[in-house]
Order: sequence, then C-alpha cells, then structure tokens
Amino acid sequence: MLKVYNTLTRKTEEFKSIEPKKVKMYCCGPTVYDFVHIGNLRTFIFYDIIRRVLEYDGYSVEQVINLTDVDDKTIKKSVELGIKLSEYTKIYADYFFEDISKLNIKPATKNPRATENIEKMQEMISTLKEKGYAYEAEDGVYFSISKFKTYGALSGLSIGGTAYRIKNDEYDKENATDFALWKLWDKKDGDVYWEGTLPKGRPGWHIECSAMSMKLLGDTIDMHCAAVDLIFPHNENEIAQSEAFSDKKFVNYWLHGEHLLVEGKKMSKSLGNFYTIRDLEKMGFDPMSFRLMVLDNNYHTKLNFYIELLKKYEKTFNDIDIAVHGLEILSRTGEAVVNNDIYALVSSFEESINNDFDTHAALVSFFSVISIINGRIKTGNIPLVLYKDIKEAIEKMDSVLGLLDGYEIPADIKEKAKEREAFRLNKNWVEADKLREQIKNNGYRIVDLKDRYVIIKDRKYA
Ligand SMILES: [Zn+2]
Repeated sequence: MLKVYNTLTRKTEEFKSIEPKKVKMYCCGPTVYDFVHIGNLRTFIFYDIIRRVLEYDGYSVEQVINLTDVDDKTIKKSVELGIKLSEYTKIYADYFFEDISKLNIKPATKNPRATENIEKMQEMISTLKEKGYAYEAEDGVYFSISKFKTYGALSGLSIGGTAYRIKNDEYDKENATDFALWKLWDKKDGDVYWEGTLPKGRPGWHIECSAMSMKLLGDTIDMHCAAVDLIFPHNENEIAQSEAFSDKKFVNYWLHGEHLLVEGKKMSKSLGNFYTIRDLEKMGFDPMSFRLMVLDNNYHTKLNFYIELLKKYEKTFNDIDIAVHGLEILSRTGEAVVNNDIYALVSSFEESINNDFDTHAALVSFFSVISIINGRIKTGNIPLVLYKDIKEAIEKMDSVLGLLDGYEIPADIKEKAKEREAFRLNKNWVEADKLREQIKNNGYRIVDLKDRYVIIKDRKYA
C-alpha cells in the first residue's frame, strides 16, 4: 500500500488511483530562460522518484512535465538579447534535457511547451469570462479570486477583502489578489503575442499549467507535483482556474518537494552560492553523486548542500561501484550460499519507498545489500546469497533509485589490468604502477582487495 502526504488535506493518505493501475501525473516543469540550478534539479529528481515508485508498484504512469517557454522572465531575456523567443527558449530547453539525463531522470511521457497550447488557454479564459470568474481590465483579463469560494484551500491562506489586481507572474502571499490570465500586448513584449478569441496578448504563467494538464491528462488527474515555493500562488491559482472552468476536482493528490539550501542559505547568484550541475562537473564531480545526495534526504526536509558533503557522497559511490563490478567476480568464482537477509532487505526497501517515498530509509536497505557483497569481496568471510538472487535484488532496488549507470569496463582496460596484476604478483612495482597510471588516465581505477582486484570508474573525490 502506497502512502503519500497530500498538501491539500495536510494528511498522509493511502494512494488510490482514479483508474485501476494507471496514474496521471502533472509536474510543474522548468521556465526555460536560464540553466536549471541544483535546487530545481532536486525537484526533478523528486518527480522521478515518485514516478519510479509508482512503476515499481505496477502502475502505468503518464507523466507530463511542461516547459514554460513564455512568461515575464523568458520574454524579458529574449528581448534584451534581441533573439526570437522561440530560439532563445530552445537553447535552455535543450540544456535542460541534457542536465536531467546526466542525473538519470527518466524522460517524461510528454513535455508540452506553453506556446504550443495557447488555444486551450484561450478557450479556458473565454469560458471563465462567460461563467463570471474572469473579467477584463485595462491591461488584461483577470481571475476574480473572490468568486472562487474555496480559494486558499491548498496554501491555507484566508483571503480578506481584496480589491486590487496583480499582473506579475510571481508574487507573494501578502499580495493574494486577482491575477492575470491574459496580458494585453505592450511594446516591451516585442513580437510575442497571440490573437484569436482574445485580444492581442499572451497568457499569464498560471493558466499555462492548468491548460496543459487538462488538455493532455483530462479534467481530473491523480497527482500534481511541484516544489514548495509553487504552492502559492501558482498551484493555488491552477486549482481556481481549472475547477472554475470544469466544475470538477482538478487534482486528487498534491505533492510538494522541499528546497535545497547552500550552506544554510537560499541559493542566489548575488551570494555567489549558486550552482548548476555543469558547475559541479567542472569541479570534477560525477553528477550522479548529487543524485545520491538528494535521495539520502527525504523530500519533506530541506537539503543543506555543501561541497564537502558532496565529496562524501562521491566516496560512497565507490562502494556501490566495487559491489556491482565485484559481483561479476563472485559469479565466476561461485562464492554463493543462501542468505535470507537479502529477502528481508528487499521487503524493508519496499516498505520505505511506499511510506511516502522515504528514500533515506530505502537507501539504508540498499547499502546493507552493498555491504554484504563488499564484505564478501573484501574479506571473503561473509556468506553470500545466490548470485542470481542478489543481482535481482540490486536491480529491483535500482529500478527506483536509478543510481547504477551500468557502465561496462572496456576490453582494453580489462587487458591492461590483467597485465598489471601479473607485474604485481612478480613484485615488479615499477611496471605495475605505470599500467595503473595508464588505466587512471583512461578514467578507470583498480581497487586491490585481499586476493583479487576490481576495476571501477575513477571518481575525482573518491
Ligand atoms: Zn506549473
């Protein structure tokens, strides 16, 4: 049984899908105006884990992650640079896909772009006007929050008498007020505008997600995911627009992932504590060490990132590598006896992931399996389960964790390692070290163990 914490009800609930064994989930995606930073990436790893757990539980998952390719920020940047909006956002959309693949985040079922779904937005806004939820002002069409009786239910905000409007896409709780659905063109928008059932203009940010979710997944969906900073106003506004439009419940379960802090502070370019995954790569880190760090912290807790801590995770990755590549040796030497621990560890892993995606506890089970293998490889003392069983256990767990990139050691590296082992056994240290160096220069590392060696990827901080 999968339990999830629902932001809307503020309770941990048993998850029940609308259709048996099918889940429709919408996740607020990136605004493609710049590189995504590691705080955004934490959120995207969180989406990935939810999807993988659902698949582990046998659901087929339709996962939509949108690209916001028209809003205040994208327009401002493209106009500043004098590039067409679509050309500008394509650059960062491409980078986004590269970055998430570096973290082994599964591609979403669909990645709709806001600019490709304008008609649905216009249809919704026109209907909202007809139903009296939206009104025209001098600079656009606005949603009247006082007309939507349950406004504030998601964020727990109580709305007083609000009589003003806000045109900006982003604003804070102090400004809970009527928000823009459609913004009339003005010259700072350059050549960005649409016409049709509404006057020349462009959509507000909030209507984009409602329209893409409803168009691709239907009026009511199982899950909607985002980072906590989107609860208000973005997700709150999505509920208002969608439910006022369809008269149906928009989302059954709202899931929100916590922030990432850098050395206890909010990440910002001006504080100089701003990182993209590319920055970490330039420092020599394997992006997957960051994935491991994220999984070790539950999504309800703030993750306090610092470089020294990331180095520790990179070291931990070595243990995984040794186990996975060492397992092959054990299969050849036939060192395998039954150990019931492994089955118990798989069950506790399953319990953890189904307990509101508790990846920290799941990793504890995973690393217990890793240390059973490494104990055997390093000391030869610990009895091991049947090769097939332990391999299956690791693969099962990794279908959720997504940590193993399944790299193969190239044949020439294996050959060099063999030659080196021969030199080593003959105590020809000079030649042995030369080969070790060559192997390292090719990106691999030989780990000498009691009576054998393992070849793994060379990680800078491991
Ligand atoms: Zn959104």
